[in-house]
Amino acid sequence: MSGRFLSIGECMVELSHAGAGLLRKGFAGDTLNTAWYARACLPADWSVEYFTALGDEAMSDEMIAFYKQAGIGTEFIRRIKGKAPGLYMISLKDGERSFSYWRDNSAARQLAADAELLREAIEASDVVYFSGITLAILSRNDADTLLAEVRRAKAAGKIVAFDPNIRPRLWSGYDMMHTTISEGARASSLVLPSFDDEATHFGDVSIAATIQRYRTLGATDVVVKNGAEGATLSFDGVESFVPAEKVEQVVDTTSAGDSFNGAFLARYLETKDAPAAAAFAAKVAARVVSEHGALVAWEKLGIDKA
Ligand code: ADP
Repeated sequence: MSGRFLSIGECMVELSHAGAGLLRKGFAGDTLNTAWYARACLPADWSVEYFTALGDEAMSDEMIAFYKQAGIGTEFIRRIKGKAPGLYMISLKDGERSFSYWRDNSAARQLAADAELLREAIEASDVVYFSGITLAILSRNDADTLLAEVRRAKAAGKIVAFDPNIRPRLWSGYDMMHTTISEGARASSLVLPSFDDEATHFGDVSIAATIQRYRTLGATDVVVKNGAEGATLSFDGVESFVPAEKVEQVVDTTSAGDSFNGAFLARYLETKDAPAAAAFAAKVAARVVSEHGALVAWEKLGIDKA
């Protein structure tokens, strides 16, 4: 089977300390991370496309070049005059990482402002992936546009996959966050939440409660990730549990969930075997948490393609 995987969201410039007062520059963002791992795991007859908006300056040019080099398509990336990508910086103090963000005015905030382009990209794709962060950075009007377009894709029988990726700091209030994330799930066929986020922000008392809530909203399938505890799946109404892989030394958990999603979707699209796809994704995510950074080099992932 071949097809096109479309990931929609924001990628930012990442700055991290490189010693001796130097900073290292990278690119990362939840939906781009998932596109990166989907690209790593999908066979060559699948294309992976990133849908976002960028500016018209050097950093946006570099990002486009970076995507292309990774084999991630840039056909639908709109360039906005006078804008630039968002930026974040990772600080390390006593072994604890903290993040500072400069993204309020990023080009990606307008990614859904061109509804026609969004529709064209979704119509040209077989699988659409977006997240709660994608929804959080948009104006209410643009979030409604995106939701309407993914609803159309779901109604047309496409796989619409959504990771709630709950980040309260990005939302103007709790009510707005709860409502919009629930709308995102309702517009999707597959929801991929992380249990600790759902328990904290939706008050779910168990993984079963998370599954039940998203199924009631209208998602057919749910994969609840739970860190080192493993993942619980509800596919076509059938539940299964897939343990996490043992990791000798956890180095950096950034992108654990994003990589799991990308690897899971890639393998599921090829085999339609959800538990086997989750076992594969657990292996990839285990490698990702054993290395530094959001985007781990593909040769370190030990992938044997389906
Ligand atoms: P998120 O990054 O979204 O919070 P999780 O922490 O639930 O997501 O992790 C996603 C997946 O990554 C898990 O389902 C598991 O397969 C893997 N993973 C995360 N942390 C560990 C760990 N400490 N050991 C082994 N696997 C892990």
